[in-house]
Amino acid sequence: MSFTSNGCSRRQFLKTTGAAGLGLLASSAAADFLSAQEPPLVPTRPFGKTGANVAILSMGGMFDILNNQLMLRQAVKWGVTYWDTANSYEGGNSEPGIGKYFAKYPEDRGKIFLVTKSTAWTLTGMTEHLNLSLERMRTDYIDLFFVHAVRIRSIPIRSIDSMDKDMQRWGEKAKAEGKIRFFGFSTHSNMEECLLAAANLGWIDGIMMTYNYRLMHTDAMRRAVDACAKAGIGLTAMKTQGGGQVLTNTPEELKLAGRFVQSGFTEGQARLKAVWENPQIASICSQMPSMALLSQNTAAAVNRARLSAGEREMLDQHAQASAAGYCAGCTGICEPALAASVPVGRVMRYLMYGRSYGNRDFASSRFQSLPAQTRAVMAQVDYTAAEQRCPQRMPIGRLMREAASELA
Ligand code: SF4
Repeated sequence: MSFTSNGCSRRQFLKTTGAAGLGLLASSAAADFLSAQEPPLVPTRPFGKTGANVAILSMGGMFDILNNQLMLRQAVKWGVTYWDTANSYEGGNSEPGIGKYFAKYPEDRGKIFLVTKSTAWTLTGMTEHLNLSLERMRTDYIDLFFVHAVRIRSIPIRSIDSMDKDMQRWGEKAKAEGKIRFFGFSTHSNMEECLLAAANLGWIDGIMMTYNYRLMHTDAMRRAVDACAKAGIGLTAMKTQGGGQVLTNTPEELKLAGRFVQSGFTEGQARLKAVWENPQIASICSQMPSMALLSQNTAAAVNRARLSAGEREMLDQHAQASAAGYCAGCTGICEPALAASVPVGRVMRYLMYGRSYGNRDFASSRFQSLPAQTRAVMAQVDYTAAEQRCPQRMPIGRLMREAASELA
């Protein structure tokens, strides 16, 4: 598949995206990919036991899709045909952006594995969200519908225990009506416990969870992923860059980035490759708000070179050296140790959106959605006990105070 045969010449592509100025060719893997006359499509993998094969790179829907339709067009042409959105993304504008695309290119709907999520947390609310998602995206069905952000048992709201018989029946009814093909949930915190519980339920088709080079080698995560793979649950990794809350830019980090570029790919591409090396992971969901990032990640997906033992070691060393700057989402450890109710894991995630992803507006809007009382107390709480328990040894108190002022 060449640019020209797709109706988008290389010159048009670069002109439209300003790609050269955005560092599009930041790796030789990307340069090889973009210069190929017939670049290969992104490979696919089976999604658990669903029978569906999905692209190993999934396009995250947290960007202004309404005004960046070329991104979706190019994604289809490169085989990035797994699209992930949510009722709430982009203030509710992500789904209409996808709907705008399908209105223009209805023939592409059948090529896309379409995922969306509901934060309703009541069965009636989920039905309303599902119907709204179908209407917004101008489609008759969703391939995979997620209950969004399932958590640990000790935090009752959105607990994994909410995935009960009633929820199972809701999913079966939606399937019988032809509105969804598969049903599952996403999870950003205490992922290991949520995955283990899901493996025992017997009716979860798919899960999207935080999973990256920092977390994938822990015993708890290995056990959880193994259990899901045995249960035939399709797994999608997110937050795969392992972006931290404390940005350091140390000389060691710069050296690490330089070493990978010498290997032919960027450090970011190496982090994706590390996750793809586990065949139990069907796909990686990546936020790719620019053509530069879409092409870098697609180039990594089609590039068959494996990380060397030395490169895996470098990532591992980096993970260990920067552990205190990365929240592992184990909120069942730190949050119960506090005298007041502070959603440490969520605030850490918002800090990551602002600091690692550079998406300050989104981070602030998520932070502002926390109850006013929570925002008011979080800078005053004593975090000493939580810090003592934190396996990452994070400076929780300092980061909560910084978040309170930075994201307010
Ligand atoms: S702050 Fe520490 S204990 Fe709390 S969720 Fe993050 S890594 Fe886990």
